[in-house]
Amino acid sequence: MKHYILFGPPGAGKGTQAKLIVEKFNLLHISTGDLLRKEIALGTPLGLEAKQLINDGQLVPDEVVVGMIQNTFAAHPEVEGFLLDGFPRTIAQAQKLDQILQESGGQVDKVLSLAIKDSTIFDRIANRAKIEGRKDDADPAIIQNRIDTYHEKTEPLIEYYKKKGNYCEIPGEQSIEEVFDCICKVIG
Ligand code: ADP
Repeated sequence: MKHYILFGPPGAGKGTQAKLIVEKFNLLHISTGDLLRKEIALGTPLGLEAKQLINDGQLVPDEVVVGMIQNTFAAHPEVEGFLLDGFPRTIAQAQKLDQILQESGGQVDKVLSLAIKDSTIFDRIANRAKIEGRKDDADPAIIQNRIDTYHEKTEPLIEYYKKKGNYCEIPGEQSIEEVFDCICKVIG
């Protein structure tokens, strides 16, 4: 069972690449952002809790997303592997993931990190706002919060995975096809 992490700041292109990767490599895509948006759309208690935090550009609590990941792993014992998109986003989430995978004899096989500049993040998210209509994409102050949260809480994961030796950085400002080619070279 393979476990790949698609890593990068908001707007780095994780969702776009995830679709291409899971199709080519026959993996199950787990996007914590998509799972949370589903809970919000269904109006579940979890969704109600998450909605406010997401619309403020903050992270939801670690135990919430860890629970969603564990449920999805448990529901899909048949798959060849998983592509995690938007998880882990904190050191605590990464440590918990290591623990969960160790218990099942697995590991994080590769961290595919899409690198882009903060100014590109802004441009891409503003563009996405027009297409997808996400509330957390619509307000520059919220976008800035998400970028700040990324630098403070998520970026430290780069060192975490570099130390483990499974970190691969991919320049994220190339075309969609060029980024995908780089990813294929890493996991193909
Ligand atoms: P983006 O690609 O713009 O980062 P996502 O769809 O991955 O968007 O996430 C949207 C929001 O969902 C995040 O800003 C955060 O509030 C919440 N979220 C997603 N994944 C996590 C996570 N692993 N831990 C905490 N919060 C998360």
